[in-house]
Amino acid sequence: MEDCIFCQIIAGEMESEIVYEDEDVIAFKDIEPQAPVHFLILPKKHIPTLLDLKEEDNKLIGHIYQIANQLARQEEIAEDGFRVVSNCNEAGGQTVDHIHYHLLGGRNLQWPPG
Ligand code: AMP
Ligand code: ZN
Repeated sequence: MEDCIFCQIIAGEMESEIVYEDEDVIAFKDIEPQAPVHFLILPKKHIPTLLDLKEEDNKLIGHIYQIANQLARQEEIAEDGFRVVSNCNEAGGQTVDHIHYHLLGGRNLQWPPG
């Protein structure tokens, strides 16, 4: 997926501030942070949207939530509270077609989101 910016980050072809990486998953700082802590956590495998998830991806997505747990604790936002959110398609606010989970925290987040 050479025109996918997140695949380029995964391949090391584009700069990013990586905060976590393993064989299957990467997490890096959002370039336009919307909160004091704003990381993107994503599978290295190119899955365009939540609608493309298959049964076989269940373990991978569970793993992403464990990393969100770990990063939230590490950033000391766990106790106060934080948000993990994934936007899907245009009306959902998705601008990069490589599935990703926003980890947001460090301020009081509003609900409902805009
Ligand atoms: P979404 O709009 O939910 O698809 O989220 C895409 C996110 O990727 C946005 O919050 C952008 O600020 C972020 N983003 C776009 N390009 C980069 C990049 N090169 N490095 C880090 N974050 C990026
Ligand atoms: Zn991709």
